[in-house]
Amino acid sequence: MISNLAYDCDVIIIGAGPAGATAATILAEEYGKKVIVLEKEHFPRYHVGESLIPHCWDTLDRIGMTDRLNEHGFQVKQSVQFVNPDGELSAPFYFSKHTDHPRAKTWQVDRETFDTMMMGRAREAGAEVREGVKVVEFLEEQGAVIGVVAEKLSGERFELRAPITMDASGRDALFQRKKKWRKRDPKLNKIAIWTLYQGAKRDPGIDEGATTVAYVNGKGWFWNIPLKDDIVSTGIVADRDYLYRDTRDLAEIYHREIKENKWIEEHLSEGKQIGEYWVTGEYSYRAENCAADGLLLIGDAFAFLDPVFSSGVYLALTTGSMGADAAAAALNQKDTSAGQFTDYGTRVCQGIEWMRKLVYAFYDENFSFKDVVTNYAEVRHALTDCLIGDLMDRDYSELFERVGEFAVLPEELPYGKTTASQ
Ligand SMILES: Cc1cc2nc3c(=O)[nH]c(=O)nc-3n(C[C@H](O)[C@H](O)[C@H](O)COP(=O)(O)OP(=O)(O)OC[C@H]3O[C@@H](n4cnc5c(N)ncnc54)[C@H](O)[C@@H]3O)c2cc1C
Repeated sequence: MISNLAYDCDVIIIGAGPAGATAATILAEEYGKKVIVLEKEHFPRYHVGESLIPHCWDTLDRIGMTDRLNEHGFQVKQSVQFVNPDGELSAPFYFSKHTDHPRAKTWQVDRETFDTMMMGRAREAGAEVREGVKVVEFLEEQGAVIGVVAEKLSGERFELRAPITMDASGRDALFQRKKKWRKRDPKLNKIAIWTLYQGAKRDPGIDEGATTVAYVNGKGWFWNIPLKDDIVSTGIVADRDYLYRDTRDLAEIYHREIKENKWIEEHLSEGKQIGEYWVTGEYSYRAENCAADGLLLIGDAFAFLDPVFSSGVYLALTTGSMGADAAAAALNQKDTSAGQFTDYGTRVCQGIEWMRKLVYAFYDENFSFKDVVTNYAEVRHALTDCLIGDLMDRDYSELFERVGEFAVLPEELPYGKTTASQ
């Protein structure tokens, strides 16, 4: 912290997605910090990433959001199911069979509404949120980040200074791009193409809100996420070369692939495609460091993992919450140098690594969860805990020793835990 600087606030947060809104709420309400959030869009705005997992509950409860989500009437999600290319459904996995905690009922959220509610919560907590303001540069002095340069829609630029800036800019990942810190995952190089449907077939009763993962002949998988108002989010994830093999037209590719899974074909045939087709590459990455002097990375701005187990919003909420605690502690000690965030980086990277191992197992053609639990019933509970997002501060070494007998698991990535102190 540079002592003779005139600061505008305690914390600047770039981006009001789930990571930024969570951090802002906790820092303002629990720690009484002066927080300014800069968000380039005006909410509500479209965002992919609708399926929550049970352990999202923990942070959402911390910031007083669980009752609001229930009252709003988002589609309740109680299970996940897997479908083979012939349309054959595995027995759905119901969260209530694993736990009777309220988190057994989680939500499928349209992100326009969810993110707007989260941003509103941050404002209510006392954070100042400025929409339509884009951060364009970082201010640095003596090697430390001391604030940002931001631009309004009018083009007018201004500067803001704070002892700590939190980058929650999502996959734009401002700081890691600027510093060339992005490390792509060595193997998880998929792309996704997705869209929305209205009026598609929905399963009845408790299965209505299930996330369905539907395989495409060893090439990839579809997601099917039922949202409220009879909308379904549906997309395919596969290797770039496979999807682009005969055209780059997203709609054409999408409709060609639907025919590769009978369940998807049958469910979507009753509905109507609405809106755009979206695509994204750069699928899994992590920043070389989680922090610099005066700066901390949270959410997708730090790391992104293939979303097959819907871990993204969970990681955004959790790093928002853990990042807020770490930033508050650093502010209280009047030392926001990078070294303050080593513990944050170590814990978060370990949590991500557990989920990353599961993702690798999923893509291993010889792997099935059934094989693991049939041979080693004693790890069933730990496996489920990991899948539903109980990732932080847990030790799943025994589980992955067993899983490693059925799938080739990755070495832990060396980066992300470290901080870049000048
Ligand atoms: C194809 C796909 C499918 C996915 N499916 C799921 C799923 O089912 N479940 C799940 O949990 N996750 C899913 N995810 C992941 C999920 O979308 C993200 O992990 C989550 O949104 C991360 O939250 P965040 O707050 O870090 O970033 P974001 O939600 O992206 O928020 C970042 C915010 O920063 C703002 N911003 C960016 N740049 C600037 C700037 N320069 N100045 C000011 N503001 C800025 C943006 O406008 C945005 O509002 C999926 C992702 C992809 C790509």
